[in-house]
Order: sequence, then structure tokens, then C-alpha cells
Amino acid sequence: MTALESIIVAMIESDGPMALDRYMALCLGHPQHGYYMTRDPFGQGGDFTTSPEISQIFGELIGVWFLSVWHVLGKPRHFALVELGPGRGTLMADVLRVIAKDEKCLKAARVHFVETSPVLREAQRARVPDATWHAGPASLPALPTLFVANEFFDALPIRQFERVEGRLFERCVGVEQGRLTLGLVPTAMHISMNGNGVIEDSRLRDAFASELGNHLKMAGGAGLVFDYGHARNSTGDTLQALRNHGFARILNDPGEQDITSHVDFEGLGRGFVAGGAKPVGLMTQADFLNTMGLEQRTAMLANTVQGAVKQNLVAASERLALPGGMGHLFKVMAVTGAGIPAPYPFGAA
Ligand code: SAH
Repeated sequence: MTALESIIVAMIESDGPMALDRYMALCLGHPQHGYYMTRDPFGQGGDFTTSPEISQIFGELIGVWFLSVWHVLGKPRHFALVELGPGRGTLMADVLRVIAKDEKCLKAARVHFVETSPVLREAQRARVPDATWHAGPASLPALPTLFVANEFFDALPIRQFERVEGRLFERCVGVEQGRLTLGLVPTAMHISMNGNGVIEDSRLRDAFASELGNHLKMAGGAGLVFDYGHARNSTGDTLQALRNHGFARILNDPGEQDITSHVDFEGLGRGFVAGGAKPVGLMTQADFLNTMGLEQRTAMLANTVQGAVKQNLVAASERLALPGGMGHLFKVMAVTGAGIPAPYPFGAA
């Protein structure tokens, strides 16, 4: 039993069944034993890999998007380049290399990271030493903002409810014979849903979007949210645990594996609207990367290398945009503050 599992068992024995958002928050963010608090989980030796870790081109194309939106914003002399949940800082390092092509833009940019993990803050500092760190959007500076979040919202805790024969229950973690189990607890909550099945409630995630939306409304700017998920709200259990690049049970070894859920982009969009910002488009990761020039940039880089390096580079680009894989499962939503039109390639007829 992990140290965190003993702590959670004791909490449940004292307070009763634990809602999944609390369980997820402890597994990922417990100050001593939380998954992200204690390790760098990315890459081959870790539990999972992400688009910026697969290819530098992912961050580069986002850099191109930022550069063009900086022009749309009227080239502000100071702006905040914000990333939420920056992992190893790889994406921002790739973005900055592209932004540096325009000296004025680079001079105007101030990097701000929203990150809770001390281990990952150190990894980010190694790649982007001049950044400023925040625990949430509330302390971001009042500067025009360009933001990106990749696989951030999927890590924010959710709750699950289940309707069985017309009665609503909350799915909670309990203890049976000293071990964690998943069970149903009757609830008086009002959740609108049709028929039976599981519905996910991402109030915390939506609140985060609302806070960020409010910042965009006040400070101006735009940003991109990349994540796996669905365009429309629907029923179904999407909670998943990942370990050693494979799926695991969410109750196994708390604190030792990543737990996430699919992002409901419809709900997330409502969160941004509640804060005063505007979601201006949603497309697949494949469509975004392809229209931003994935093929051209891959060919350009491939011309500079040989052999296995070349093959890996091409394979990495394909992986990011594969229709049966990341290319379609991952979506990207663009969000703007007041008064700017949907930036290319969103809203392009
Ligand atoms: N964007 C990176 C990492 C994704 S993993 C990449 O694509 O490689 C999720 C990231 O969000 C990690 O950096 C994690 O520490 C951070 N994170 C998770 N929950 C958070 C929270 N509540 N507040 C701030 N950061 C959080």
C-alpha cells in the first residue's frame, strides 16, 4: 500500500466516502505524495508522453500562431506569454525560438507559468530561466495575454454522477476490508441528464476556465487550449489512469500514476464565457497543425538531417496529426478577449 493510500483510507474511515474530485486532487497534488509533486512523469522512462515532447514542431507552430496574433493585437510593447501546466517547459522553449525571429516581439514578451509542482517548476526554470511562476490565473499581470495550455485541463479534478433506474448517485471512493473500492452514494444534487449512465461534473475545471476568461476580458489577448476530449457534452465514464505508457485502474497505487479525464469542450467553453472571454473556434489537432504548416516545417527540418534522425522526425510529425490517434482525439479551442476577430486558422471560411 502506498503512503498516500494509507492516508486516504484513514480519511475515508473517519469522514465517510470520498468524492472523486477530492481523490483525484490528492493523487495528483498531495504536497508530499502527489503524482506531479514528486516526479517528472514525461518521456520514454516516464508514464506518458505529450505533443511538445514528441516533436519540437508542435511548439514552433504555436509560436507562429502567437507571432501572428501579436500583430493582430497591434504589436503591444509588453505582453504576457502565458502557459498553464508547462510540464518540462519544452513547449515554451520551442515557442521562444520562433518568437525570437522578430526581435521586437521577443523584447515585448514576458513569460508567465501557472504551475503547482515544485519538481516541474525546476525543470521549467532550466529551459526558461526568466519566467515568473503563479499558482493560478488570478495573479497574472494586467498585460495583453497570449496563452497556451496543453494537456492541462484534463488533469483538473472532476466528479462523477450516475443515474440508476431514475435515482441519482455520486460515484465515490470507499474502503472495504482495508482497500479502496468505488461505490455509489445517494445524492440530492440536481444534475440534468437523459436516461441512465455516468455523467461527469467538471465544476473545478470550468471555474479555472472562467478565471482565465476573466483575465482575458480585463487584459485582452487570446489563447489555445489543446486536450483530448469531445466537442459536445455527453454521458460516459472517461476517467483514466496511466502508468508506463499503459492504462491502469484509477484506484491502484494512489500518487504513483497519472489520473486524467477527457475534456468536455462545450462545458469548458461555457466556463470561458462565464468569465467574459469568447471561444472562437474548435478544430482537431490535425487540422490546426496541418493548416499551420506541419508538412512544410517537417520537410524543411528533414532536409537538414540524415538517416534515423530524419526518419524519427517524420514519424514524430505523423504521430501528432494521425487521424486514428492524437490528430483527431486531441482538439484545440481558440479563445479571445474582447474585440478581436477569430485569429487564423479559426473562423477561416
Ligand atoms: N503541458 C505539458 C504538461 C502536461 S501535464 C506538456 O504538454 O508536456 C499537466 C501539467 O499541469 C503539469 O505541469 C502539472 O504539474 C500541471 N498541473 C496539474 N494540476 C495543476 C493545477 N491545479 N495548477 C497548476 N498546474 C497544474
